[in-house]
Amino acid sequence: MRLDAKIPAGPVTQKWDRHRFELKLVNPANKRRYNILVIGTGLAGASASASLAELGYHVKTFCIHDSPRRAHSIAAQGGINAAKNYPNDGDSIWRLFYDTVKGGDFRAREANVYRLAQVSNLIIDQCVAQGIPFAREYGGLLDNRSFGGAQLSRTFYARGQTGQQLLLGAYSALMRQVAAGRVHLFPRREMLDLVAVNGQTRGIIARNLVSGEIERHEGHAVVLCTGGYGNVYFLSTNAKACNVTASFRAYKRGAFFANPCFTQIHPTCIPVHGTYQSKLTLMSESLRNDGRVWVPRDAGDKRPAKQIPEAERDYFLERKYPSFGNLVPRDVASRNAKEQCDLGKGVGETGLAVYLDFADAIRRDGRAAIHKKYGNLFQMYEKITGEDPYETPMMIYPAVHYTMGGLWVDYNLMSTIDGLFVLGEANFSDHGANRLGASALMQGLADGYFVIPYTIGGYLAGSRFPEVTADHPAFAETERQVQAQIAKLLSIRGRRTVDDFHRRLGLIMWDHCGMSRNNAGLEKARGKVQELREEFWKNVLVPGGERDFNQSLEKAGRVADFLEFAELMIVDALARQESCGGHFNEAFQTEENEAQRDDANFCHVAAWEFAGDGRAPDFHKEPLVFENVHLTQRSYK
Ligand SMILES: Cc1cc2nc3c(=O)[nH]c(=O)nc-3n(C[C@H](O)[C@H](O)[C@H](O)COP(=O)(O)OP(=O)(O)OC[C@H]3O[C@@H](n4cnc5c(N)ncnc54)[C@H](O)[C@@H]3O)c2cc1C
Repeated sequence: MRLDAKIPAGPVTQKWDRHRFELKLVNPANKRRYNILVIGTGLAGASASASLAELGYHVKTFCIHDSPRRAHSIAAQGGINAAKNYPNDGDSIWRLFYDTVKGGDFRAREANVYRLAQVSNLIIDQCVAQGIPFAREYGGLLDNRSFGGAQLSRTFYARGQTGQQLLLGAYSALMRQVAAGRVHLFPRREMLDLVAVNGQTRGIIARNLVSGEIERHEGHAVVLCTGGYGNVYFLSTNAKACNVTASFRAYKRGAFFANPCFTQIHPTCIPVHGTYQSKLTLMSESLRNDGRVWVPRDAGDKRPAKQIPEAERDYFLERKYPSFGNLVPRDVASRNAKEQCDLGKGVGETGLAVYLDFADAIRRDGRAAIHKKYGNLFQMYEKITGEDPYETPMMIYPAVHYTMGGLWVDYNLMSTIDGLFVLGEANFSDHGANRLGASALMQGLADGYFVIPYTIGGYLAGSRFPEVTADHPAFAETERQVQAQIAKLLSIRGRRTVDDFHRRLGLIMWDHCGMSRNNAGLEKARGKVQELREEFWKNVLVPGGERDFNQSLEKAGRVADFLEFAELMIVDALARQESCGGHFNEAFQTEENEAQRDDANFCHVAAWEFAGDGRAPDFHKEPLVFENVHLTQRSYK
């Protein structure tokens, strides 16, 4: 199969306008004839559901939580990018486009990134109209702060709770449509499979997580907004419920998975502190606006931070990257922190941490000013670690945070299965090999509010839909397969818990397919994942029954998918014999230990097609063409 990204012709600045004009429209009176299933209620899913219902489509919206507001998006802290240029410091749509392509280490599609930058400003207008309480500066305009990979301030924020405020806005828009009867909301439902009839998406199989009942839902299109898969590492900053199940099961039905090995390791997280920890906590990138990252100059220096004089500290990011300083992109900051720890300069009990110090900022701006900007983050840090960051520097270490890989989509956000659209973190789309801070919220809302309302219309108006109901044999067969897997999981009655398998999988992935990778380690990890998977299916313990509220069963299904998906990540990492962004293969680095791309051989999206259980996936390539931002070695010096 030839991958066709359906990128419109013409200059990059005109592609989206032209495409919107050329897309077929669905007449307003006909929209109510179409049923659209939206899976997920994070920023991508809530905004898509609200926008599609507002247009007049019948929408059914599903999420695994008890309320749409519990989607992981609620946890986003730092902010959302847009090219408004309010601070008058040199921003433009073109610069946001440029920074994002470069930040992604030239592994994203130019046309999509330009569109993202273009609609970024509309998102802010929409959110302001919804009443999102963005921070304002003294003149009344919305305030902006800086994030990594940009030399200006374009990040809109609501203290350290931007995701919460944006999600409450999207949720309000969604609930308005629920009240109007245009969205039918299905909380506590888990999509367990996709139903396709003659290659066309026609519905889903979902499990009611309270009653255990298996449900069939038919529709004319499915919009998957189920978030990222960072929890394959067990420990991550993601909410515990984040998973790959919906995407992976769609992959098994024919949706290609793109760049699964592209994982983002965020530099500023609270370090791991115990074997039985189940979650890692992010300290927002916004803190690097004022916090200075340092380690002791000499390896093995175990004095408390306050006793280490200025001359004996190494502000390594400021030293190595004078132009961007502490605000280098995440992949660069994370690798450097690891490098310092590997050199024996790490701090804290484990030696796996570096300092993030606010002393200078507090001296300069006063404690009150710092409290106003970051109060909730400082409080969170103190509650978790017992240390007061106003008095002693924070200790931070990189942790898994975001996944740039996802289901492959074309310019219309449609996967390789007709009628299956993928939005938000679940698609591979716009961030290449490294996402810049504050760009995920932007992308989720761009997809949901401003892209899918147009592109889904083009699909619906241009397609034929033979009569298919939930009684169709394809539904019956898919449901049978879902039931069989559940029965199998419950029948094993082994000796090890689901969490035990998940934790062991996470460790394999972190050690060998994490911040830094090498071919021998990846090969080893592949074998270990296969062994663990085999053991899982013989020895996992899933207590309880299927007609019940059974969280062990829910987790077991998700971990079963992670165990297969992890191998796909490793296969992808092995196939990409270069370093780029978050994918750092030790064999490919510059003299200064930066990621060394190989544009001659790897300037492409790697898209994997499921080839059957126990068989290696088939590889497909979407070449990436850079006409506007020229391929160069990324430099933040
Ligand atoms: C701690 C933290 C802070 C962050 N801060 C920022 C920030 O400041 N700025 C920024 O740009 N980005 C930030 N990010 C990234 C950003 O929050 C996420 O990428 C983004 O919110 C993802 O939104 P989404 O709508 O794609 O998915 P999610 O918000 O993860 O929503 C997924 C939805 O899918 C549902 N779901 C999942 N599986 C199923 C299934 N099988 N069946 C039915 N429903 C299902 C869930 O119930 C949920 O409703 C942060 C990430 C983390 C971890």
